[in-house]
Amino acid sequence: MANYLNWLYGLNGLIVFGAILGRYFLVAGGAYWLCYNRLNSVLATRRLRLKPPSGRSMRGDIQLATVSALIFAVSAMVVIVSYDRGLTKLYGDFGTYGFWYLGVSYLAVLLLQDTYFYFLHRLLHRPELFRWMHLGHHRSGDPTPWTSFAFDPAEAVLQTLFLLGVIFVLPLHFATLVAVLVTMTVWTVLNHLGFELFPQSFPHHWLGKWLIGPTHHALHHRKYRVHYGLYFTFWDRLLGTHDPIYEAEFDASLRPASELATVQPVPRKDRRACWLNPSTSRVSTKNMPSDSSTPR
Ligand SMILES: [Zn+2]
Ligand SMILES: [Zn+2]
Repeated sequence: MANYLNWLYGLNGLIVFGAILGRYFLVAGGAYWLCYNRLNSVLATRRLRLKPPSGRSMRGDIQLATVSALIFAVSAMVVIVSYDRGLTKLYGDFGTYGFWYLGVSYLAVLLLQDTYFYFLHRLLHRPELFRWMHLGHHRSGDPTPWTSFAFDPAEAVLQTLFLLGVIFVLPLHFATLVAVLVTMTVWTVLNHLGFELFPQSFPHHWLGKWLIGPTHHALHHRKYRVHYGLYFTFWDRLLGTHDPIYEAEFDASLRPASELATVQPVPRKDRRACWLNPSTSRVSTKNMPSDSSTPR
């Protein structure tokens, strides 16, 4: 019986690993294909990258993300085994805490995860930890969607500890857990898109100013010392790691919609030249370290 259970968990582990890796290729790969191929010329005036992504850096990101997926799969198996043994606070009946609790617990997890991520991220940028725990995520310089889940193994373990811990403490419906995972996946890919998709009013809007988007996180990948959050800007604003030039950068970088509409598709052979045109660069190079530099 024990052998049969081990075999079943092993099979489940493989399926979970495939699902996590498949999700990465579907969402990150889909975003890359859309923004860097199909809509590349349409989005030319919203590009944040200074250089076209190199195949080498993207392959490096995919390798790290594959190892991260393996670590996330082990973590997911710990959740499954713990649930089977009745150790978690996961539940499946919508009536247990009422429908209002689904929304409240969803927001609570996002806020808690953002807080965990902010302080962990600041810690990982300490010189003694950065090289072996967080350099992998920054190795490609300007990010692409492939960077979204590219973590050094030690960072992947620490990232997974949050959701692994929260299911033992906070009652969560399965639907809420899935909603959190979907939000995390989409938001993370969006932050590493390399294109700004939000409207010009976003960093000034009463809600938008509290949310992290592509330009916000691009500044982290360029400067290292600002913007450590995952979903929200609360902690950055509160603890002095909000870049004071963020709003100005956002304003300066987006062209008016009327001008955007006149952008002509760029022939495939000319796309590299388009990348190198400084007038289409979205984020200032002032005070930026080079791709290979490390934070001080
Ligand atoms: Zn990042
Ligand atoms: Zn970082």
